[in-house]
Amino acid sequence: MAQRPGRIVVVGAGVIGLSCALRLLQAGHRVDVVARDLPLETTSSVAAAIWYPYLASPQDKVTAWGRTTYDEFARLAERGADGVLMRWGTELLSRPMPDPWWIDAVPSLERVEPRAPYADAWSFRTPIVDMSRYLSWLTQQVLDAGGTLTRLALAGLPEAPLVVNCSGLGSRRLATDLTSMPVRGQVVVVEQVGLEEWWLAEGEAGGVPTYVIPRVTDIVLGGTDDEGEWSRTPSPEVADAILSRATELVPRLAGAKVLRHKVGLRPARPEVRLERVGDVVHCYGHGGAGVTLSWGCADDVVRLAA
Ligand SMILES: Cc1cc2nc3c(=O)[nH]c(=O)nc-3n(C[C@H](O)[C@H](O)[C@H](O)COP(=O)(O)OP(=O)(O)OC[C@H]3O[C@@H](n4cnc5c(N)ncnc54)[C@H](O)[C@@H]3O)c2cc1C
Repeated sequence: MAQRPGRIVVVGAGVIGLSCALRLLQAGHRVDVVARDLPLETTSSVAAAIWYPYLASPQDKVTAWGRTTYDEFARLAERGADGVLMRWGTELLSRPMPDPWWIDAVPSLERVEPRAPYADAWSFRTPIVDMSRYLSWLTQQVLDAGGTLTRLALAGLPEAPLVVNCSGLGSRRLATDLTSMPVRGQVVVVEQVGLEEWWLAEGEAGGVPTYVIPRVTDIVLGGTDDEGEWSRTPSPEVADAILSRATELVPRLAGAKVLRHKVGLRPARPEVRLERVGDVVHCYGHGGAGVTLSWGCADDVVRLAA
């Protein structure tokens, strides 16, 4: 007789922990999620969140995880999952560029005429996820599938037949991994002004990109990426700079009402860690692409848990 899969403790209730929990439940495991921060308090809740491989390595695995995740979000958008949309948009580049390294992860990408002062551009259709709605939806899916979610701040990984470590930056402590580092990101959320298309513009001379991500009821403007910076307090000067860059990119944003300022610490690492060591499956270090890689990584976690 086939052995029934056993109990698994998932540490972390961001997009990675919840996606892993749901896939493990769907594979027949008993799953308990424990987390210091509940879903709407996590870094994941701050994400913009457009499907786009940003600050995550290695390229071959990121492309494969990204492709799986793209396809799953396209299915979820069709099914009407809360907060998940598919939208066209354009990335503007300051220099002529070859196709992006992750091109195989998207069904199609069209070269388009860049507008001044940019030198190159491409457009593609991609998932956009309103995390405040989606994380609530995902949590409900986990609970409906028989999982549990408990607030618990851990000083070390728990004792359990199998632990899945999705603690993001918490892995500095829980996995004694000091290669995990924060990359601070600040965003400004403004009211929807009837925008449907997203925009991403490369900063000059490799500077920070500017992005405008229209969600269902609001628009996320960014961004910043400050490596090694731990402050979670939004800076008014940075917010002003984001608003001015975004409005220059999309003049229709002029005068849009500011709804919120947010900061999150991206859990960066030289490479995403997805491996099993004894009774622990580690899955963390997704940098600026945790949403983009979530379903692909969750499928690999299920394979490692088997
Ligand atoms: C401004 C900004 C914009 C972004 N935009 C995008 C985007 O457009 N697209 C995209 O794909 N990604 C984006 N990201 C990146 C994305 O948010 C992250 O990659 C993703 O949230 C990582 O998810 P996670 O579940 O690994 O970590 P987290 O969301 O940080 O969750 C970690 C979980 O582990 C728990 N934990 C940690 N330590 C402990 C402990 N000691 N005990 C118990 N629990 C613990 C936490 O409480 C939390 O529940 C953005 C990030 C920022 C900041």
